[in-house]
Amino acid sequence: MLILNWTRTTTTLFSTLLVISIGHAQLTLVDNGTSSSRIILLNNHPEERTAALLLQDFVEKISGAKLPIYPTNESIRRGDILINNADGSANLTEDGFHLACSDHGITISSAGGKGVIYGAVTLLEQYLGVDYFGEFEYNYPKQKTITLPNVDQIDNPAFRYRQSQNYALSADTVYRLWNRLEMPTEVFAAGYWVHTFDRLLPSDQYGKTHPEYYAYFDGKRHPGKASQWCLTNEDLFEIVARRIDSIFQANPGKNIISVSQNDGNFTNCTCEKCKAIDDYEGALSGSIITFLNKLAARFPDKEFSTLAYLYSMHPPRHIKPLPNVNIMLCDIDCNREVSLTENASGRDFMKAMEGWSAISDNIFIWDYGINFDNYVSPFPNFHILQDNIRLFKKNHATMHFSQIASSRGGDFAELRSYLVNRLMWNPELNLDSLMQHFLNGYYGAAGPSIYQYIKVMEGALLGSGIRLWIYDSPVSHKSGMLKPELMRRYNRLFDKAEASVAQNPTYLKRVQRSRLPLQYAELEIARTETAVDFEDINRKLDLFEARVKEFQVPTLNERHNDPVDYCQLYRTRYLPAANKSIALGAGVAYEPLPGKKYQEISKTALTDGLFGGSTFVESWVGWEGQDATIVMDLGKVQSVHSIEADFLHQLGAWILLPEQVTYSYSSDGKSYTTWETHTIPEDRSPQVKFVGIKTEIPVQARYLKIDVIATKECPTWHYGVGHPSWFFVDEVTVR
Ligand SMILES: [Zn+2]
Repeated sequence: MLILNWTRTTTTLFSTLLVISIGHAQLTLVDNGTSSSRIILLNNHPEERTAALLLQDFVEKISGAKLPIYPTNESIRRGDILINNADGSANLTEDGFHLACSDHGITISSAGGKGVIYGAVTLLEQYLGVDYFGEFEYNYPKQKTITLPNVDQIDNPAFRYRQSQNYALSADTVYRLWNRLEMPTEVFAAGYWVHTFDRLLPSDQYGKTHPEYYAYFDGKRHPGKASQWCLTNEDLFEIVARRIDSIFQANPGKNIISVSQNDGNFTNCTCEKCKAIDDYEGALSGSIITFLNKLAARFPDKEFSTLAYLYSMHPPRHIKPLPNVNIMLCDIDCNREVSLTENASGRDFMKAMEGWSAISDNIFIWDYGINFDNYVSPFPNFHILQDNIRLFKKNHATMHFSQIASSRGGDFAELRSYLVNRLMWNPELNLDSLMQHFLNGYYGAAGPSIYQYIKVMEGALLGSGIRLWIYDSPVSHKSGMLKPELMRRYNRLFDKAEASVAQNPTYLKRVQRSRLPLQYAELEIARTETAVDFEDINRKLDLFEARVKEFQVPTLNERHNDPVDYCQLYRTRYLPAANKSIALGAGVAYEPLPGKKYQEISKTALTDGLFGGSTFVESWVGWEGQDATIVMDLGKVQSVHSIEADFLHQLGAWILLPEQVTYSYSSDGKSYTTWETHTIPEDRSPQVKFVGIKTEIPVQARYLKIDVIATKECPTWHYGVGHPSWFFVDEVTVR
């Protein structure tokens, strides 16, 4: 019986002799619905058991037969699947695996980590035809007999640590294993993995009593959650070292911790001692690496990760990070329409990365394939993924986080994760085949139309010369990749995609969910146009709202703005009101003028009848670190019933609501009467908000004046602590 498990192909003249030595063989796992193989756990290790259960589950799904699982002490028979997570082979790195057929059967071995699980996944994916696409979304063939070809495959990951994002990760444990991802909490002590200064030394606790622990700039110390440390303060070093010691004591088995700057830019210390180091090193990372090396020397058997991010992106000139200092280098400021070597922002990062790779082999790259402001909006960056990951690998990155959001309803969330996760394992895969394999497997007959959609948009983006970036808005692309004739073409491709799978509800729903970003882009662009068919927009809005509800899309952006709220707000804010503003087209004067970038748009923006959206890059007019006065001229004295100016609240972009707004009116533009003063409460909510400040008192007036008292400086709880804040205003509605 057992010998039958092992069938040999003897089809050539030479085969009878050769077969015995090289074993051109097939292993039969299931024969006509009956299991003919067993799974043996050589060390009875939990990872071996997880691998075995995955194999058992999918083999049963495919064939109906359940392979038995046996622990170590079972004697091995020919045809067994052996799982060994303690292979001593020098060919295997952490999480790597070896699949090898022999006369005994097949062995899945690893040198630790989750290698045996990833070996089992590879067996299922590459040899048994299982595809795992998204949250509980997978395909497998149905067959009564399962055979394996002769396999001998060693596979090690390109990066020892691979982290990414997808909504499936929270609920679907198989999804995470299948995609070979790690979570920071699995690796970093007590989950200290980024922006840890304030967690290690809470400014709430130390800020008042020890301001000298915090950054000195603009003539004073700035204790705060987003402020940085005075890295040359000896007492601070000792407190931090003690704290780290106790964290490691409390978390046995963890060897790495992040000691890294808070999430603020240019909030670093410029006291005499800190500045001297940074000046000598020619980079603001100088004092950070000096501090980190001191810690790394104090705890030589531990590893310390720190950020090279924003102001600290460039490496120091003289000091080299110790081998147990891990550099978490972030390419946040780079544009995404082309790969990193192809535009100025990318080249600046490349210079930093090459500098770090010349002095360190312990680099963690944090890459951004994300539009923080609009997850549910087209983000065609697939064509740059592979180039960039190859560059990271080439420049000594051993750890990698690909921040791509991939939230439910986000732009090709499932495809994006599928590609990124596979490239993080092996940057040399054929990306185009991988993409087509996914599209055809996930969308069925709609795959080719969606592939075409992606390719047309990619070409249009490149042809437009418009940047793609992490706070992008579809409105920025309305004359580029999202111009009307292309929008019509995209819609035709999606119509075709939907029609081709109309009979298959699973595929149809996936196509409809993937269409949401295109629908959202249409709505966003429509609100910036004056000549639109409002009935058509209403229909599109209703459909978008129905779909985000059906697909349970939780948010539009990183700030947790709910898409259903967006639809409701759209109706009141962007669709025409019966009662139009009498200020439409009115002349507006400013004192002082708004920020340079906003001066051109400010000529019409406040009285054009169009309201700004959640990204400040269009429609909004902004001032940095200043109060301002805005005067509107209605052309003649008339009855005015109300005035309402709209302000933007977007903490992530350092845009804070004003502290106070005073409306006044006048008939000659010289002597003004105060109409009403509004005091606006501080708002610390991360959500993007539009806040209308309204006065409703009938007066006779020609000139209306708005005096804005801004916050001017980011408060201590904000990322920009001590730096100028912005205020932004758009449409002023007068009735
Ligand atoms: Zn200092």
